[in-house]
Amino acid sequence: MYENLYNNLIVIGGNVAGLAAASQARRINPELDITVLESGKYISYGTCALPYYISGYIKKIDDLFAYPKDFFEQKRNIKILTSHRVVGIDSAKKELLVNVAGTSENRIISYDRLIISSGGSTIVPDIPGINSSNVFHFRNIEDAEKLKGYIDKNNPKKAVVIGGGQIGMLMAEAFNMIRIKTSLIEMKKRIFGGFEYEISTILSRKAEMENIIVLTDTAVSSINSSSVTIESVEGKRDIDCDLALLATGISANTGFLLDTSIELGKNNAIKVNNKLQTSYINIYACGDCATVKNIVTGKQDYIPTANNGVKTGRIAGENAAGGNKTFAGSVGTVVDKVLDLEVAKTGIGSNEAISMGYEAIKLIDSYASHAGSVPGAKKIAIIIIVDTRTRKLLGAQMIGGEGVGKRIDVFATAITSEMTVDDIYMLDLSYAPAVSTVWDPVNKICGKAVLALDSSKN
Ligand SMILES: Cc1cc2nc3c(=O)[nH]c(=O)nc-3n(C[C@H](O)[C@H](O)[C@H](O)COP(=O)(O)OP(=O)(O)OC[C@H]3O[C@@H](n4cnc5c(N)ncnc54)[C@H](O)[C@@H]3O)c2cc1C
Repeated sequence: MYENLYNNLIVIGGNVAGLAAASQARRINPELDITVLESGKYISYGTCALPYYISGYIKKIDDLFAYPKDFFEQKRNIKILTSHRVVGIDSAKKELLVNVAGTSENRIISYDRLIISSGGSTIVPDIPGINSSNVFHFRNIEDAEKLKGYIDKNNPKKAVVIGGGQIGMLMAEAFNMIRIKTSLIEMKKRIFGGFEYEISTILSRKAEMENIIVLTDTAVSSINSSSVTIESVEGKRDIDCDLALLATGISANTGFLLDTSIELGKNNAIKVNNKLQTSYINIYACGDCATVKNIVTGKQDYIPTANNGVKTGRIAGENAAGGNKTFAGSVGTVVDKVLDLEVAKTGIGSNEAISMGYEAIKLIDSYASHAGSVPGAKKIAIIIIVDTRTRKLLGAQMIGGEGVGKRIDVFATAITSEMTVDDIYMLDLSYAPAVSTVWDPVNKICGKAVLALDSSKN
């Protein structure tokens, strides 16, 4: 328990990071007056599972909620004010200007310490027709309710998903599952641009096999109620669609900070130090609205994942309540299950390694997910990026039918611990024929790297 040096803590945002922060502040400081201000109607929901609600895999919206408001209020003594949107901050007076939804009332709420965990929003491209009623965003439970309501009422047959990243692909899959013919439009040369080319290609082919149309190097130039206009080197044409979904990346929800001198970085995210403190000592930030230190590059980066959200939330909460914990940073580990494939990455990619001045090599191979004697093994393609000078692993990416999530976590641990490929090659990884191979694919690809590095010396 920490000494009570101040009276109240206000948390902005009532989802992953904000509730982790408020809960940790309560655990270590039972005396503190803690209030969470949430602009939406709901708190504590599983954003990551929202696509499954659209596809019908999750049937009831209620199944998406983790903890009810009462849990926080009664068990944790944390006040939750929903429909309370923070619209401004006076950092000198330590006051928040808060709009209560459905009213013209603006309340002033004072804080001693403040945690900002306001998440992010879809980046809205400046395209004619972008505000049409059949164009949807997909960031929170209210967006999901709106989209589901539209689908149930209008029975759309064709959709366009704008943006071929992880959320775009998850939503294309969800539409495909409910028989909405989907075109995925990506401006860049390939989908899953944060991954290596080979992974993007495997996924693109799989999407097309599943009857999702993938159009890369293609920009959407306008939208109307029954079609979108696309432009590529082949020219301009219209694609019929009953709905369009924006998956065009996210930007931190920090517009309400513009009158303060809180420093912002990449994607408008709040710059924080390793204590999750902003440029004001009594204001902390965590989750998707804040930067994190990238452990591989050593720089502040924008890595908006739920796994970073809960951890940064916990540390921000602890420190705001009087603690002194440090967040080591993130190696950028992500995993997805899409179109029956697990896709994952951690660390940095080959282009980033080269641009940072590493003499890096990239190794790629594919292996069976478990022993051939047991039926059902699936193929896993693995790519690793290795620094030839130190032989340390810099990044790993994978795609395959099973066992990818388990293995990417081994690589994430290895990168965080600065292990060399020699160490990982001999790492004692588990084996049973139905689960792995005697030399696990993680060992094997690192063995391949060891051979390549040794032979380049001779
Ligand atoms: C479709 C989808 C799938 C995803 N899948 C994964 C996944 O598989 N794995 C993974 O790690 N991550 C995934 N993510 C990302 C993950 O959901 C986010 O990283 C996580 O929700 C971040 O938590 P947060 O609390 O920082 O932000 P949020 O969850 O966005 O919460 C922020 C809250 O702040 C509120 N708020 C915003 N502005 C204000 C204001 N001015 N005043 C008051 N309240 C405000 C918002 O209403 C919101 O409830 C996915 C995201 C989406 C959209």
